[in-house]
Amino acid sequence: MMFPDDNQEIADFGLICPECGVANPENAEYCLVCERDLRNTLLFLEDDSFDLEITSDCIIEYRKNFWGTDRTGKVNKYPLREISNLEFGHPITRFKFDFNGKRHVIPIKNENMDSLKKLLNEILDL
Ligand SMILES: [Zn+2]
Repeated sequence: MMFPDDNQEIADFGLICPECGVANPENAEYCLVCERDLRNTLLFLEDDSFDLEITSDCIIEYRKNFWGTDRTGKVNKYPLREISNLEFGHPITRFKFDFNGKRHVIPIKNENMDSLKKLLNEILDL
């Protein structure tokens, strides 16, 4: 039996659910598996010490444990309109910004940095 559309469909599953980690179609409104609302999720990145979700108005950091296997439950939210002086470090990839009167530095994987930079450039019009 043939499934000619399979590859095409897999290629379009680019939106990772921030709740359960399942890949959903880019335009999905709700996660196929856990039904989490994905309408606001623009990008989701898994990194070593946290998962990062970017919505249209917020960066959300889900802290993970030392081994990067589970979330600790600690969540940091950075509203996009309240952060400033964004800086994408190179060659050491650190994402830096001012928020709440403090300089925040987030170490981030190279490939995640590229996606993050591209998206923030688009939505913040840097
Ligand atoms: Zn899900």
